[in-house]
Amino acid sequence: MRIATFGWGGQRRVGRLSTDGTELTPLALGDRARTRGALALIEALAEGREMPAAAGPRLPVSAVRLQAPLPRPRRNLWCVGRNYRAHAKELAGTIFSGDEKPIDRWPIVFTKVPECVIGPGEAIVLPGRSISEQIDYEAELAVVIGRGGVNIPASRAMDHVWGYTIVNDVTARDVQQRHVQWDLGKSFDTFCPMGPWLVSADELNGQDTRVRCWVNGELRQDGATRDLIFGIPQLIETVSRGITLYPGDLIATGTPAGVGMAMDPPRWLKPGDTVRIEVDGLGVLENPVR
Ligand code: MG
Repeated sequence: MRIATFGWGGQRRVGRLSTDGTELTPLALGDRARTRGALALIEALAEGREMPAAAGPRLPVSAVRLQAPLPRPRRNLWCVGRNYRAHAKELAGTIFSGDEKPIDRWPIVFTKVPECVIGPGEAIVLPGRSISEQIDYEAELAVVIGRGGVNIPASRAMDHVWGYTIVNDVTARDVQQRHVQWDLGKSFDTFCPMGPWLVSADELNGQDTRVRCWVNGELRQDGATRDLIFGIPQLIETVSRGITLYPGDLIATGTPAGVGMAMDPPRWLKPGDTVRIEVDGLGVLENPVR
Protein backbone atom coordinates (compact mmCIF):
# COMPACT_ATOMS: atom_id res chain seq x y z
CA MET A 1 0.00 0.00 0.00
CA ARG A 2 0.97 3.61 -0.45
CA ILE A 3 0.28 6.01 2.40
CA ALA A 4 0.35 9.79 1.99
CA THR A 5 0.17 12.66 4.44
CA PHE A 6 -1.64 15.64 2.98
CA GLY A 7 -3.44 18.86 3.69
CA TRP A 8 -7.16 19.04 3.04
CA GLY A 9 -9.67 21.55 4.34
CA GLY A 10 -7.00 23.24 6.41
CA GLN A 11 -6.15 20.03 8.27
CA ARG A 12 -3.46 17.42 8.05
CA ARG A 13 -4.81 14.03 6.96
CA VAL A 14 -3.37 10.60 6.29
CA GLY A 15 -4.71 8.54 3.42
CA ARG A 16 -4.25 5.47 1.33
CA LEU A 17 -3.45 5.96 -2.31
CA SER A 18 -5.55 4.16 -4.93
CA THR A 19 -3.85 1.57 -7.13
CA ASP A 20 -3.81 3.94 -10.10
CA GLY A 21 -2.33 6.69 -7.92
CA THR A 22 -5.00 9.27 -8.67
CA GLU A 23 -7.11 9.18 -5.50
CA LEU A 24 -6.62 9.21 -1.75
CA THR A 25 -8.88 7.60 0.84
CA PRO A 26 -8.54 9.49 4.15
CA LEU A 27 -8.03 7.17 7.12
CA ALA A 28 -9.83 7.41 10.46
CA LEU A 29 -7.07 8.50 12.80
CA GLY A 30 -7.74 10.60 15.88
CA ASP A 31 -7.40 14.38 15.65
CA ARG A 32 -4.15 14.36 17.57
CA ALA A 33 -2.77 11.32 15.81
CA ARG A 34 -3.14 12.69 12.32
CA THR A 35 -1.20 15.84 13.15
CA ARG A 36 1.80 13.47 13.24
CA GLY A 37 1.08 12.28 9.71
CA ALA A 38 1.80 8.70 8.74
CA LEU A 39 3.92 8.23 11.88
CA ALA A 40 0.71 7.67 13.84
CA LEU A 41 -0.34 4.95 11.42
CA ILE A 42 3.05 3.21 11.41
CA GLU A 43 3.02 3.14 15.22
CA ALA A 44 -0.55 1.82 15.37
CA LEU A 45 0.21 -0.96 12.88
CA ALA A 46 3.42 -1.84 14.75
CA GLU A 47 1.32 -2.29 17.89
CA GLY A 48 -0.76 -4.84 16.00
CA ARG A 49 -3.80 -2.65 15.53
CA GLU A 50 -5.98 -2.97 12.46
CA MET A 51 -5.70 -0.71 9.47
CA PRO A 52 -7.98 2.27 10.24
CA ALA A 53 -11.25 2.51 8.36
CA ALA A 54 -11.91 5.07 5.66
CA ALA A 55 -12.93 8.48 6.98
CA GLY A 56 -14.86 10.07 4.18
CA PRO A 57 -14.94 9.85 0.42
CA ARG A 58 -11.95 9.49 -1.89
CA LEU A 59 -10.21 12.71 -2.84
CA PRO A 60 -8.37 13.37 -6.09
CA VAL A 61 -4.62 13.60 -5.43
CA SER A 62 -4.59 16.65 -7.68
CA ALA A 63 -6.89 18.46 -5.24
CA VAL A 64 -4.85 17.95 -2.08
CA ARG A 65 -1.48 19.27 -0.99
CA LEU A 66 0.93 16.42 -0.36
CA GLN A 67 3.12 16.86 2.71
CA ALA A 68 6.14 14.92 3.91
CA PRO A 69 4.77 11.48 4.84
CA LEU A 70 6.57 11.74 8.20
CA PRO A 71 6.43 15.53 8.62
CA ARG A 72 8.30 15.49 11.90
CA PRO A 73 10.11 12.21 12.49
CA ARG A 74 10.21 11.22 16.13
CA ARG A 75 13.96 11.83 16.26
CA ASN A 76 16.96 12.38 14.02
CA LEU A 77 17.08 10.50 10.74
CA TRP A 78 19.83 7.93 10.50
CA CYS A 79 21.86 8.49 7.35
CA VAL A 80 24.64 6.57 5.67
CA GLY A 81 27.63 8.13 3.94
CA ARG A 82 29.48 6.86 0.86
CA ASN A 83 27.39 3.76 0.43
CA TYR A 84 27.73 3.38 -3.34
CA ARG A 85 31.19 2.51 -4.66
CA ALA A 86 31.00 4.91 -7.60
CA HIS A 87 30.04 7.76 -5.24
CA ALA A 88 32.83 6.90 -2.78
CA LYS A 89 35.22 7.00 -5.75
CA GLU A 90 33.99 10.34 -7.12
CA LEU A 91 34.61 12.01 -3.74
CA ALA A 92 38.32 11.24 -3.96
CA GLY A 93 38.75 14.25 -6.27
CA THR A 94 36.87 16.73 -4.06
CA ILE A 95 37.25 18.56 -0.76
CA PHE A 96 37.12 15.08 0.76
CA SER A 97 40.37 14.15 -0.97
CA GLY A 98 42.64 12.45 1.55
CA ASP A 99 39.65 11.78 3.77
CA GLU A 100 38.80 8.41 2.25
CA LYS A 101 37.56 5.84 4.68
CA PRO A 102 38.47 2.33 3.66
CA ILE A 103 35.42 0.33 2.69
CA ASP A 104 35.52 -2.19 5.44
CA ARG A 105 33.23 -3.68 8.00
CA TRP A 106 31.46 -0.55 9.18
CA PRO A 107 29.42 2.06 7.33
CA ILE A 108 29.68 5.81 7.93
CA VAL A 109 26.59 6.85 9.91
CA PHE A 110 25.46 10.38 10.74
CA THR A 111 22.12 12.03 11.42
CA LYS A 112 19.90 14.87 10.26
CA VAL A 113 17.59 16.67 12.67
CA PRO A 114 13.83 16.04 12.20
CA GLU A 115 13.08 19.75 11.94
CA CYS A 116 14.74 19.98 8.50
CA VAL A 117 12.10 17.78 6.84
CA ILE A 118 9.94 19.41 4.16
CA GLY A 119 7.36 17.97 1.79
CA PRO A 120 7.00 17.58 -1.98
CA GLY A 121 6.99 20.91 -3.79
CA GLU A 122 8.28 22.87 -0.81
CA ALA A 123 11.34 25.03 -1.38
CA ILE A 124 14.86 24.07 -0.38
CA VAL A 125 15.96 27.42 1.03
CA LEU A 126 19.62 28.36 0.51
CA PRO A 127 21.04 29.63 3.78
CA GLY A 128 22.86 32.70 2.40
CA ARG A 129 26.40 33.08 1.11
CA SER A 130 27.91 34.01 4.45
CA ILE A 131 26.83 30.61 5.75
CA SER A 132 27.44 28.36 2.76
CA GLU A 133 27.91 28.66 -1.00
CA GLN A 134 28.20 24.93 -1.59
CA ILE A 135 24.74 23.43 -1.41
CA ASP A 136 24.40 19.99 -2.96
CA TYR A 137 21.68 17.39 -3.52
CA GLU A 138 21.77 13.69 -2.62
CA ALA A 139 18.98 11.44 -3.91
CA GLU A 140 18.35 8.54 -1.57
CA LEU A 141 16.05 5.65 -0.82
CA ALA A 142 15.00 5.81 2.85
CA VAL A 143 13.91 2.80 4.87
CA VAL A 144 10.96 3.24 7.25
CA ILE A 145 11.14 1.00 10.30
CA GLY A 146 7.91 -0.78 11.27
CA ARG A 147 8.33 -3.05 14.25
CA GLY A 148 11.06 -1.71 16.54
CA GLY A 149 13.85 -3.63 18.14
CA VAL A 150 17.43 -3.66 19.35
CA ASN A 151 20.37 -5.80 18.24
CA ILE A 152 18.47 -6.86 15.14
CA PRO A 153 20.49 -9.36 13.12
CA ALA A 154 20.77 -8.80 9.38
CA SER A 155 19.08 -12.15 8.83
CA ARG A 156 15.86 -10.84 10.41
CA ALA A 157 16.24 -7.14 9.60
CA MET A 158 13.77 -7.08 6.72
CA ASP A 159 11.00 -8.16 9.13
CA HIS A 160 11.43 -4.73 10.73
CA VAL A 161 11.01 -2.74 7.51
CA TRP A 162 7.56 -1.21 7.10
CA GLY A 163 8.41 0.35 3.80
CA TYR A 164 10.21 3.11 1.99
CA THR A 165 10.18 6.73 0.94
CA ILE A 166 12.49 9.15 -0.90
CA VAL A 167 14.67 11.72 0.80
CA ASN A 168 16.95 14.37 -0.60
CA ASP A 169 19.91 14.54 1.79
CA VAL A 170 20.65 18.19 0.95
CA THR A 171 24.11 19.13 2.16
CA ALA A 172 26.24 22.24 2.69
CA ARG A 173 29.58 20.77 1.60
CA ASP A 174 31.87 23.40 3.12
CA VAL A 175 30.08 23.15 6.47
CA GLN A 176 29.99 19.35 6.30
CA GLN A 177 33.73 19.23 5.85
CA ARG A 178 34.63 21.96 8.30
CA HIS A 179 33.29 20.30 11.44
CA VAL A 180 34.48 16.70 10.98
CA GLN A 181 31.06 15.55 12.17
CA TRP A 182 28.53 15.99 9.37
CA ASP A 183 25.40 16.83 11.30
CA LEU A 184 25.63 20.62 10.96
CA GLY A 185 26.16 20.63 7.21
CA LYS A 186 23.30 18.17 6.76
CA SER A 187 20.68 19.74 9.02
CA PHE A 188 19.99 23.27 7.76
CA ASP A 189 16.32 24.21 7.74
CA THR A 190 14.54 22.67 4.68
CA PHE A 191 17.48 20.31 3.96
CA CYS A 192 15.47 17.10 4.03
CA PRO A 193 12.78 16.99 1.35
CA MET A 194 10.78 13.77 1.82
CA GLY A 195 8.02 12.08 -0.14
CA PRO A 196 5.92 11.82 -2.14
CA TRP A 197 4.50 9.11 0.15
CA LEU A 198 5.40 5.82 1.84
CA VAL A 199 5.33 2.53 -0.02
CA SER A 200 5.02 -0.66 2.01
CA ALA A 201 7.69 -3.33 1.73
CA ASP A 202 5.28 -5.82 0.15
CA GLU A 203 4.96 -3.49 -2.86
CA LEU A 204 8.56 -2.43 -3.34
CA ASN A 205 11.80 -4.38 -3.07
CA GLY A 206 14.07 -1.67 -1.70
CA GLN A 207 17.06 -3.92 -2.23
CA ASP A 208 16.56 -3.87 -5.98
CA THR A 209 15.31 -0.55 -7.25
CA ARG A 210 16.68 2.45 -9.11
CA VAL A 211 17.41 5.93 -7.73
CA ARG A 212 17.64 8.82 -10.17
CA CYS A 213 18.04 12.57 -9.76
CA TRP A 214 17.62 15.41 -12.22
CA VAL A 215 18.52 19.07 -11.72
CA ASN A 216 16.57 21.31 -14.08
CA GLY A 217 15.79 18.27 -16.22
CA GLU A 218 19.43 17.14 -16.53
CA LEU A 219 20.03 13.62 -15.26
CA ARG A 220 22.75 13.78 -12.62
CA GLN A 221 22.42 10.56 -10.59
CA ASP A 222 21.37 7.08 -11.66
CA GLY A 223 22.07 4.27 -9.24
CA ALA A 224 20.76 0.82 -8.38
CA THR A 225 20.23 -0.13 -4.74
CA ARG A 226 21.61 -3.59 -5.43
CA ASP A 227 24.96 -1.75 -5.68
CA LEU A 228 24.80 -0.54 -2.07
CA ILE A 229 28.06 -1.33 -0.28
CA PHE A 230 26.15 -1.96 2.95
CA GLY A 231 22.73 -3.34 2.11
CA ILE A 232 19.54 -2.59 4.00
CA PRO A 233 19.80 -5.64 6.34
CA GLN A 234 23.37 -4.69 7.29
CA LEU A 235 22.40 -1.08 7.89
CA ILE A 236 19.58 -2.08 10.23
CA GLU A 237 21.88 -4.48 12.05
CA THR A 238 24.51 -1.74 12.43
CA VAL A 239 22.22 1.06 13.60
CA SER A 240 20.36 -1.19 16.04
CA ARG A 241 23.51 -2.41 17.79
CA GLY A 242 22.82 -1.30 21.36
CA ILE A 243 20.31 1.32 20.16
CA THR A 244 16.60 0.54 20.10
CA LEU A 245 14.91 1.34 16.80
CA TYR A 246 11.31 2.54 16.97
CA PRO A 247 8.42 2.41 14.52
CA GLY A 248 8.77 5.30 12.08
CA ASP A 249 12.54 5.59 12.40
CA LEU A 250 14.16 6.41 9.07
CA ILE A 251 17.43 5.19 7.61
CA ALA A 252 18.57 7.04 4.47
CA THR A 253 20.65 4.50 2.60
CA GLY A 254 23.18 6.79 0.87
CA THR A 255 23.40 8.49 -2.48
CA PRO A 256 24.67 7.27 -5.87
CA ALA A 257 27.43 8.94 -7.86
CA GLY A 258 26.71 12.24 -9.59
CA VAL A 259 26.55 14.83 -6.82
CA GLY A 260 27.31 18.44 -7.76
CA MET A 261 30.48 18.52 -5.70
CA ALA A 262 32.10 15.82 -7.83
CA MET A 263 31.69 17.75 -11.10
CA ASP A 264 34.51 19.74 -12.60
CA PRO A 265 33.96 22.50 -11.77
CA PRO A 266 31.49 21.70 -8.96
CA ARG A 267 27.89 22.67 -9.69
CA TRP A 268 26.13 23.89 -6.57
CA LEU A 269 22.41 24.41 -6.27
CA LYS A 270 21.23 27.94 -6.99
CA PRO A 271 17.96 29.84 -6.70
CA GLY A 272 15.48 28.82 -9.38
CA ASP A 273 16.80 25.26 -9.70
CA THR A 274 14.46 22.29 -9.47
CA VAL A 275 15.62 18.96 -8.03
CA ARG A 276 13.61 15.93 -9.12
CA ILE A 277 14.23 12.51 -7.62
CA GLU A 278 12.58 9.33 -8.79
CA VAL A 279 12.79 5.89 -7.23
CA ASP A 280 11.30 3.14 -9.39
CA GLY A 281 8.18 1.69 -7.81
CA LEU A 282 7.95 4.55 -5.35
CA GLY A 283 7.34 7.83 -7.13
CA VAL A 284 8.76 11.28 -7.72
CA LEU A 285 9.91 13.90 -5.22
CA GLU A 286 10.42 17.35 -6.70
CA ASN A 287 11.49 20.52 -4.90
CA PRO A 288 12.40 24.01 -6.08
CA VAL A 289 15.45 25.84 -4.72
CA ARG A 290 15.02 29.32 -3.37
MG1 MG B 1 23.51 11.24 1.96
